[in-house]
Amino acid sequence: MAEFSPKQFRKQFPLFSSTPLNSSMIYFDNAATTQKPLAVIDEIAYYYQTSNANVHRSSHQLSASATAKFEKARLVVKQFIGAKNDKEIVWTKGTTEAINIVAQCYARPLLTKHDEIVVSYAEHHANIVPWQQVAEHTGAKLNVLPLTSCGRIDLSSLDSVINSNTKLIAINMISNVTGKRNAIERIIAKAKAVGAKVLIDGAQAIAHERIDVHQLDCDFFAFSAHKVFGPTGAGVLYGKEQLLTAMPPYQFGGEMIKKVSFNGTSFADLPFKFETGTPNIAGVLGLAKALAFTKQYQASMAIYEQQLIDYTHSQLKTIPQIKFLFDEKPDIPIFSFVIEGEHNQDVAAYLDTRNIAIRAGHHCAMPLMEYLGQTGCLRVSLAPYNLISEVDSLIVALKGYLAAGA
Ligand code: PLP
Repeated sequence: MAEFSPKQFRKQFPLFSSTPLNSSMIYFDNAATTQKPLAVIDEIAYYYQTSNANVHRSSHQLSASATAKFEKARLVVKQFIGAKNDKEIVWTKGTTEAINIVAQCYARPLLTKHDEIVVSYAEHHANIVPWQQVAEHTGAKLNVLPLTSCGRIDLSSLDSVINSNTKLIAINMISNVTGKRNAIERIIAKAKAVGAKVLIDGAQAIAHERIDVHQLDCDFFAFSAHKVFGPTGAGVLYGKEQLLTAMPPYQFGGEMIKKVSFNGTSFADLPFKFETGTPNIAGVLGLAKALAFTKQYQASMAIYEQQLIDYTHSQLKTIPQIKFLFDEKPDIPIFSFVIEGEHNQDVAAYLDTRNIAIRAGHHCAMPLMEYLGQTGCLRVSLAPYNLISEVDSLIVALKGYLAAGA
């Protein structure tokens, strides 16, 4: 394996050399969205420059070529996440839409007031609100798995929260706040024991871990392209073929039909019955390119990421006023903390004046903040194009801020 050079890797991301301000910017908001490499930007531009046509419709050459590329992208995703066949890959706008499809098309028609849905306290709103809606419409109960002090789902609670009424468990593989990887294998095994289905929110995991949905044997898996160096507005719902087949469509219109007649309309086969209207063709091609790009670096990036985790954690710990929200080092480079006596927004705004981009707030995880007794926190999230020297600059800036206030 070739040694990973963060400086060389960074050069592939044009944003970092696009303006003087961007060139000196320290971008530590990667859990919100990652920057895009030239390979992905080029792929999208190249599609519009050379191959733009609608897919699955016309018989002319341009459309046939666009359709072929579009469907090849599905095979790339299938392979990247270890799915059995390409019918199990549904294009979505992102993780949020993928979860909503499962909520509305799998859970809502099936669940009754006798059933239960399980999430955890560390879910993104995207993996809470759709289930609250299902619960409201069906009368099903929404149960919540507690966390350990490290921020992982507390496995000792599985037997008390998951039972024979549980029909669906929707949990993150890695949380966007804790940065901790959950023992989803144990939770999937528990779900099987009670006959429940499992949806994995893979939004944060997709960029950091090799995913094999077949081996995991999860029922659904959702992710967004933009968290893994791909474009916004494109994502994936993986679902087991048998489950997707049994689910009704999500939306109705063009593309998702077999035959339309005032005497009755029939719907297309998988995966097209979930892909209504003209899809985000360029986004899908960019997504596939981003996965190919990621695959190329996956193993070497992981080693460097661990160095980033170890170094950032040890450096943040040198600032006594920092209170980490969770015990132990994170599994991916996401650090959530508060600074005693300081407003999160003030700290983030100060860092912005130093051209350091971090995020302050609830991180779309208000129930987690409530669980922790916080209104929000600071989040520093790194990617493999970040440099050790940038971590040093952050620490100097934080110490400078605290010294000025003291
Ligand atoms: N789940 C997790 C863990 C996330 O981090 C995010 C985005 O921050 C989402 C879901 C929602 O993703 P999107 O906004 O791309 O649909």
